[in-house]
Amino acid sequence: MNEIFLLKLGEIVLKGANKKMFENKLRTNVARRMRPFGDFKVSILQSTVYVEPENELCDLDGAWEACHTIFGAISLCRCRPCEKSEDAIFEAVVNYLGDDLAAARSFKVESKRSDKRFPLNSIQISQAIGGRLAEAYPDVPVDVHHPDYTVYVEVRDFAAYVHGPAEPGAGGLPTGVGGRAAVLLSGGIDSPVAGYMIAKRGVELEAIHFFSYPYTSELAKDKVLELARKMARYCGRMTVDVVGFTEIQEAIRDNCPEEYFTIIMRRFMMRIAERIARDHGCECLVTGENLGQVASQTMQAMAVTHAVVDMPVFHPLIGMDKEEIVTIARRIDTLETSILPYEDCCTVFTPKHPKTKPKLSEAEKIEQKLDVEALIQRAIENTELVKIRYQG
Ligand code: ATP
Ligand code: MG
Repeated sequence: MNEIFLLKLGEIVLKGANKKMFENKLRTNVARRMRPFGDFKVSILQSTVYVEPENELCDLDGAWEACHTIFGAISLCRCRPCEKSEDAIFEAVVNYLGDDLAAARSFKVESKRSDKRFPLNSIQISQAIGGRLAEAYPDVPVDVHHPDYTVYVEVRDFAAYVHGPAEPGAGGLPTGVGGRAAVLLSGGIDSPVAGYMIAKRGVELEAIHFFSYPYTSELAKDKVLELARKMARYCGRMTVDVVGFTEIQEAIRDNCPEEYFTIIMRRFMMRIAERIARDHGCECLVTGENLGQVASQTMQAMAVTHAVVDMPVFHPLIGMDKEEIVTIARRIDTLETSILPYEDCCTVFTPKHPKTKPKLSEAEKIEQKLDVEALIQRAIENTELVKIRYQG
């Protein structure tokens, strides 16, 4: 076995009595995520997940890439295991990291020894290996303060491991430890990021999309499904409930004052989302709302919108700037899909002068002209369920 991965646990290490449960969840999640890439042994020891290929057929590069999207691990090391002796460690560094080391302007060795029976302590390991490397690579000076490249040596229970700089993991908590949430997923930039952020806290996701055919096209629906697919890389499989929203939007257009169109529409979305969420065993709703971004996202508008639901509504982007949201969207690879130019149902029948400070009593009065319950029932009956699988 030439290479293994060590995934370092993030916040889980701070957990008290529940730590085992969090670790077990992470271990089963990692094992499941490795499955498409061959036979891997996955175990947890000393706050580290060991991912070891069992044979030569494993797709190590694919597995390594997938590790970057597993919540619960904060940093990832791709390493060469070796025997626990000074000679073997030195050989492993030369063979495994030699090219990177030779190309560096300077280096240092950093060591950790969790097996206290090993005769050298961590400083002595660094000195011994660093000294031999300095001789073997005379053109690369040692610089312990600002090294261009760091060689890491870890002497653990069953073996020693050498690796270069760790890569950042996805962070957060293992999927499945935090319950289930339903994200209202439009085709925009914000809602996929909002869903991702809640999922990062260990929450399983379902998605709900409101679709106003023919005002919004099949392409708009495909775009949302593609976004869900991209989110599934991090969040795991999910179901997208595509709710037929056309009748409701037409009813609002025909019966409500224009300045209240968006608010009333959003109140319908929340009511329907709550019912679907409960059906799927979700305990909260998630939206991409962001304070002050548009007229329907003022404090007053959000209060009127959310007054119709009886479960927590989370909006993780509420205090972020657009630029910060875009940075995350780019990192999780949803941005390019989000900016494809298909209409969302929110942009159909948009009022010229939307009310930025709507009143709850006014919204309730306006809704008396509509058969709210019947409209909701028909929309829910007119829902298509699309299953999104995790794709490595
Ligand atoms: P996004 O970029 O997520 O579309 P937005 O800034 O365009 O957000 P709005 O259109 O006001 O904001 O929508 C606010 C939130 O309502 C969205 O983030 C999303 O959670 C939800 N939402 C809007 N339109 C839809 C839709 N067609 N289907 C499902 N949810 C929607
Ligand atoms: Mg939108």
